[in-house]
Amino acid sequence: MLLAGYLHEHPEWRFLAAGSGTYCLCVTKDHPTPGEQQPATTAITAGRSANGTSLATPLWASSTWVSTGLVDARRRATGRRSTEFYSRYANPTVRAFEEAIAALEGAEDAVAYSSGMGALTTTILALCSSGSHIVAQHQLYAGTLAFLQGPCARFGIDVTFVDGTKPGAFAAAVQPGRTMLVLAETPSNPLLELIDLDELGAIKGPFTVVDSTFATPLGQQPIKHGVDLVIHSATKGIDGHNDATLGVIAGERDLLDEIWGYGVLHGATPSPADALNALRGIRTLAVRTAHQSKSAMQISTALAAHPEVRAAHYPGLISHPQYELGQRQMRSSGTVLAFEAAGGLEHATSVLDRVRLVRVATSLGGPETLMCHPATSTHSSLTAEELADAGITPGLLRVSVGLEDPTDLIADFTQALERVTTSA
Ligand code: PLP
Repeated sequence: MLLAGYLHEHPEWRFLAAGSGTYCLCVTKDHPTPGEQQPATTAITAGRSANGTSLATPLWASSTWVSTGLVDARRRATGRRSTEFYSRYANPTVRAFEEAIAALEGAEDAVAYSSGMGALTTTILALCSSGSHIVAQHQLYAGTLAFLQGPCARFGIDVTFVDGTKPGAFAAAVQPGRTMLVLAETPSNPLLELIDLDELGAIKGPFTVVDSTFATPLGQQPIKHGVDLVIHSATKGIDGHNDATLGVIAGERDLLDEIWGYGVLHGATPSPADALNALRGIRTLAVRTAHQSKSAMQISTALAAHPEVRAAHYPGLISHPQYELGQRQMRSSGTVLAFEAAGGLEHATSVLDRVRLVRVATSLGGPETLMCHPATSTHSSLTAEELADAGITPGLLRVSVGLEDPTDLIADFTQALERVTTSA
């Protein structure tokens, strides 16, 4: 209702069809052009609105703000994204983080949430109603999949899953007048599949949404390709230190204001402390990403050549089926790779047991190299059939490459794999 009312009033949006609570929208994709400044510099200069003369951004921990009287209180209460009213609405520290993300994505604005899932679910529930339709990539983070298959189905939101790596698959599944969202994740979790951002950005009608968590804003800018909304789990590379749980959406300001309006009611509000940690993470994002993606390339090359590895998956490898696409749309190939232990589940189990430097943990993007077994951790909610369908084999291991020296990491993977060879 909120969304419909808002869009009817907004000059840049035009309804193609409306009926029984479902809408299809035609968007004037008037995306801002990014500035001349290099992203590594923007990571330093952006998001300083809460600073005053302080070089470091202050932590505004307050949940509420004092008004001078009724007129002032009403101004704060009714202003869109007023940062000095109540922190479920907005908060100066969180706002600084949002501004930094908007600048890095080349977006008009951004809005933060309590987690990546908070950002995703708020977007879906803000833009879809009962009877709406979503087109989604078949390979997604399992939490996103579970939300699309569970609560969405319960709320009467239909989802069509497609293999988004096939040219034209998303566009072909769009139902004009009914599809509200086209949702992709690139690179995808856990197999590092890529989605063609130009193709996605060219889809007219529904809102196009990209979960760009694995790339970070330093790795790719989906909005430049015409995509409407970019979502990140900032818990990952953006924060970069495993000490914040945070999500963020970037895109056109008017659309984000509308999602924000719904989000105030939904309440997946970010913590200012997490926003501050993530803002500090942004300051070093460029150097971290450069080091980690270089290491990921070296490690995936070593793993691809190892006799006990059936396959290595990393967009920077020439053997990756979408290598050319990655080179075209990504600034760096990312910090996450996956590989399949040749001996299946038993072998993967022994690799996880034997690594010494690499830590066995889920999540990604931090300074410590982490490894997990997607079939029993991040994607454990999938059935055996769904796992097979998504290509998540029993021997698959996902690695988030950290900031250690890659030589030490390669030695650790090699000893973990080779010990199996000698004892077999
Ligand atoms: N998107 C991707 C690609 C993820 O890998 C994850 C979590 O691993 C999420 C979204 C959810 O993020 P969060 O855990 O911050 O809710």
